Amino acid sequence: MREQQTLSQLFNGDEFLPRHIGPSADQRQAMLNEIGADNLEHLTAQIVPESIRLDRDLGIGAPQREVDALAAIKRFANQNQVFTSYIGMGYYNTHVPHVIQRNVLENPGWYTAYTPYQPEIAQGRLEAILNFQQLTMDLTGLDLASASLLDEGTAAAEAMALAKRVSKNKKSNLFFIADSVFPQTIDVVATRAKHLGLEVLVGSAADAVNHDVFGVLLQYPDNTGAVNNFADIAAEIKAKKGIVCVASDLLALVTLKAPAELGADVVLGSAQRFGVPMGYGGPHAAFFATRDAYKRSMPGRIIGVSKDTRGKPALRMAMQTREQHIRREKANSNICTAQVLLANMASFYAVYHGPQGLKRIADRVHRLTSILAHGLKAEGVNLVNSSWFDTLTFEVSDADALQARAQAARINLRHDGDNCFGVSLDETTTIEALKTLFAVITESQLDVEGLDGVAAAGISDELLRSDEILKHEVFNAYHSETEMLRYIRRLEGKDLALNHSMISLGSCTMKLNATAEMMPITWPEFANMHPFCPQEQAQGYRNLVDNLAEWLVSITGYDAMCMQPNSGAQGEYAGLLAIKGYHESRGESHRDICLIPQSAHGTNPASAQLASLKVVVVACDNDGNVDMDDLKAKAAEHAERLSCIMITYPSTHGVYEETVREICDVVHEHGGQVYMDGANMNAQVGITAPGFIGSDVSHLNLHKTFAIPHGGGGPGMGPIGVKAHLAPFVAGHAVVKPGFECDNNGAVSAAQYGSASILPISWMYIAMLGDRGLAESTQVAMLSGNYLAKKLGEHYPVLYTGRNDRVAHECIIDLRPLKEASGVTEMDVAKRLMDYGFHAPTMSFPVAGTLMVEPTESESKVELDRFIEAMVNIRGEIDKVQRGEWPADNNPLCNAPHTQADIMDGSFDERPYSRELAAYPTQATKDNKFWPTVNRIDDVFGDRNLFCACVPMSAYEE
Ligand SMILES: *Cc1c(COP(=O)(O)O)cnc(C)c1O
Repeated sequence: MREQQTLSQLFNGDEFLPRHIGPSADQRQAMLNEIGADNLEHLTAQIVPESIRLDRDLGIGAPQREVDALAAIKRFANQNQVFTSYIGMGYYNTHVPHVIQRNVLENPGWYTAYTPYQPEIAQGRLEAILNFQQLTMDLTGLDLASASLLDEGTAAAEAMALAKRVSKNKKSNLFFIADSVFPQTIDVVATRAKHLGLEVLVGSAADAVNHDVFGVLLQYPDNTGAVNNFADIAAEIKAKKGIVCVASDLLALVTLKAPAELGADVVLGSAQRFGVPMGYGGPHAAFFATRDAYKRSMPGRIIGVSKDTRGKPALRMAMQTREQHIRREKANSNICTAQVLLANMASFYAVYHGPQGLKRIADRVHRLTSILAHGLKAEGVNLVNSSWFDTLTFEVSDADALQARAQAARINLRHDGDNCFGVSLDETTTIEALKTLFAVITESQLDVEGLDGVAAAGISDELLRSDEILKHEVFNAYHSETEMLRYIRRLEGKDLALNHSMISLGSCTMKLNATAEMMPITWPEFANMHPFCPQEQAQGYRNLVDNLAEWLVSITGYDAMCMQPNSGAQGEYAGLLAIKGYHESRGESHRDICLIPQSAHGTNPASAQLASLKVVVVACDNDGNVDMDDLKAKAAEHAERLSCIMITYPSTHGVYEETVREICDVVHEHGGQVYMDGANMNAQVGITAPGFIGSDVSHLNLHKTFAIPHGGGGPGMGPIGVKAHLAPFVAGHAVVKPGFECDNNGAVSAAQYGSASILPISWMYIAMLGDRGLAESTQVAMLSGNYLAKKLGEHYPVLYTGRNDRVAHECIIDLRPLKEASGVTEMDVAKRLMDYGFHAPTMSFPVAGTLMVEPTESESKVELDRFIEAMVNIRGEIDKVQRGEWPADNNPLCNAPHTQADIMDGSFDERPYSRELAAYPTQATKDNKFWPTVNRIDDVFGDRNLFCACVPMSAYEE
């Protein structure tokens, strides 16, 4: 009889592992042969110092098949109870238009794109974000809007920081917050203020004018639902040189007078209810707008219009010189990853509904609210707010009885304590639902039809909007599903994402975002949960988060995780606050020096600055390692005041520093703590661990190492792992208190679990890989990194290598000598890669004039070889320029990227190279061509002529 496979072998054939890992067994062997290593173990031993090799299993278990992991996570989903939520407070039910759900949220063409640093191959999402900015500007009435911030709470904190930067009342250190602002917003702002050394006073909005402030934060409509005219307050504050910041709501603003007309200088809020599910707190895009005069002080990214070399309008990120990666500790903010995918969804929602559709939705919500208000008053219920858009606050005589009726009807009301309750209606509220709600509150019937047209509105005439909004063509052209579908597709086609080719971004780990990992996020049991619902309804989330946290504890070697920060940079901030809290608890709050190596990511110094730590830079030696002598000298010099060091491991230069344990020891000896930036965890998982190495705290970029997609620039999650001594000092929350020691600490995000609804992605990733798969992924990532280093190293200098001449999981290609010899720049190479169908690697970080390549474990050898072929060809092209065969100012490199317009252009014949070489330089491009839709974009022109609104269609005509 022929030998048969066992049943277990036959089932193992369905494993996820070989789907996640790009190179097949044969390809792996070929790569090992190429770099001269016997096997993965042998290679790992060559790369990773023995002293830090993990000596234990992760304890996660065997890899789960996709179907099994989906069944397991479904069990978590089933433990959530989806009640009808009227809680509001910045989170509302919404109908995600199906055409947007399927074609944007569930479409890898949108969710796997990278941040648009290479704008010529990102015009689609740049247009969608520009629409988001236009929407924000129209509704707030302000001149300039950003491309999204992390959530309403952090946007408010950024508003305060902007106010401090621009206010002419330099003497004042006081920021006034109206007590009618959402409690979670006050919490996040107060945390930020405390650590920036600013004072916060919370009081009634009217009291703001009685203080000498640099700024105020009001809310319109406010926490009770009231819609108050704040024009007088704003005028008085401004007369005293204070800045007026206003938190607001996009749907309300469709109906309400623009806050800028009432005197707001900054308007911020959440765009969640524009078609993004509540998701137990996030991810959602926050919007942020201000006056033109404050543009250089804006936090976060702004998309601006410029032109390309053919004079065509072209979009790109504007004024990047304000950002953390350039200005470091002098940056306006530490925000890096934002909420691009969700901003795109919100802008598409506005495009799909258009001004009339939005008006209809807003008017309907308001009418239903007015009918409810009328009905409640008629029943003798005491309404707290006498004006409203969608929210009513009221008092009842028997709170317990009302809670019981609501519970029985599976309805969540907002309970403000004692006998005070609130309800917020939304787009999904129907007449039937309103009747049920009314019966729950009053035990009597609401005559909705009878009251329609009779019930008085809740907004005074002076606060009604009289101007037209969203007049731009884009908001008035795509209202049929066919048109919408094609608009989304047209934009998608302009963008290069992972569904076209590898994006080998060093430090950013663009690995597979598997379909099975993504599927649960749109299940209603995860998508439709309100973050402030009673905790017993969210048992599934709680168990999932606890389980994920347990796994991450094991993977990192820490003792506890804080799952609140919703980006890596937020994690850095949260981690530094934990360190500060720890020092303070020991009577050492004077420790305020943060050592940061030269090569650090810009968010490190920017976060230190936000925590009021003083940055002292530590030098790196010629091999890219932390200069131990300099470290020892600086640690000793600042021993009295040493708070911590922030290091990245393996280093941003792509090597495992042998001295890492010594670095930790030196800092500890001088009383400091070690913060290890977790962006490079893809080279550690299952092999070593930050807690094991000796670090005290790290953030994990779940959107890098743990498979959450980049979304074109967000969402992300940046939970932090901490050693036990730091656990009491991690972020808490004003509204949700699960019973931890840290519950009453200040919050760093608006929601307790940050962007909770994308945590299932990382849970699925870990479950499906298991112990074996996680370690193997790390090892293959290192194999691929070294394979690229070897193959590219034959043509370009590789800047740094570690022991045995190996790199870790990424390598830095040095273009400076070639630039010196030929005049071809790293920018030319990056743009030329587009012609070859690739997104450039990380440019000029951590070393100017270089490219940092990180292939990840998910790319097959075939794809790696395609990339190598492109880079080798480009090297040949550089040679031709160097030899003078092509003029320095007319060659395929400096003219890159090439568009269809170039190829069609009769004058192309005058170029010294062929159309084929320009656009179809390889067989791969002949088989599957990606066309950049604009030529190289002029950044300087765009910044000199800053324009951040929609461009009229006519501007695109030839
Ligand atoms: C990506 C990255 C960060 C910042 O993470 P965000 O999620 O973008 O805020 C910090 N440090 C390093 C080394 C990174 O690569």
